[in-house]
Amino acid sequence: MTLPAEKLGGAILTTTSKLDLQEIIGDWKAQNLKIGLVPTMGALHEGHLSLIKIALENSDRVVVTIFVNPTQFAPHEDFDIYPRKEAQDIAKLEESGAHLVYIPAASEIYPDGPASTLKAGPAAQGLESDFRPHFFDGVATVVHRLFEHAQPDIAVFGEKDFQQLQVIKEMVKTQDMPVKIISAPIMRDEHGLALASRNVYLSEEGLQIARQLNKVLSEATETGNIEAAKTKVLETGFDKIDYIEKRWNRILAAAWIGKTRLIDNMEI
Ligand code: AMP
Repeated sequence: MTLPAEKLGGAILTTTSKLDLQEIIGDWKAQNLKIGLVPTMGALHEGHLSLIKIALENSDRVVVTIFVNPTQFAPHEDFDIYPRKEAQDIAKLEESGAHLVYIPAASEIYPDGPASTLKAGPAAQGLESDFRPHFFDGVATVVHRLFEHAQPDIAVFGEKDFQQLQVIKEMVKTQDMPVKIISAPIMRDEHGLALASRNVYLSEEGLQIARQLNKVLSEATETGNIEAAKTKVLETGFDKIDYIEKRWNRILAAAWIGKTRLIDNMEI
């Protein structure tokens, strides 16, 4: 396939169409190029960009997807207000070295309407699922469909969403998909706060509170005292804890500041 002239010269390719995506990727595959995929919900930050860097190191052509997936949000959650910053995202992607951005229309992902058609496996039990019961079925469904559309050789996911990473690894195994899942370390700001698109919801005061979570978790990895960590998280000003738990040799946490839910985790 010959790419349109305006798309040459370093500018990143952008498409909303599954057919276009498959034509471009098919052309790359015909040249024996290895395809890397980085699925995101947009509002890109340095965490996302670090995933792209890892994808570039492990493949020849990097496809970034931006899709705010309706099936992983419950009706009372923040789907409608989730930050959407397409123009800024594309500008960042131009600089990132990625080759193609797929911003599918919802009808491309859910031609029969938004519904989860895959059940997440055992890794989905507990933690997030206790508070967001439909979340991982939505994640498994959308990632499966994105993999079907792009047929990547590798895909990169962040350890920031550690349980999600396990769910996706399981899904790839049970669905027998020929894609290697590569995990990326958590990117943090200079105060240790895990970068997240939802951090934009925080006020200046909320941000100061949020920046304490990693410090409490770090201490808990030393002491092993989960109950003390819960007390401290509330003392620093968090309004509510969904969970602080040990699993996978990590301490994983989800907690609220006002209407903003933060998650983080650290290796023990
Ligand atoms: P999201 O756009 O929040 O769905 O995230 C897309 C991908 O970026 C997921 O694989 C996340 O785990 C990853 N990610 C988000 N924040 C970070 C971060 N601070 N460090 C590393 N990866 C991240």
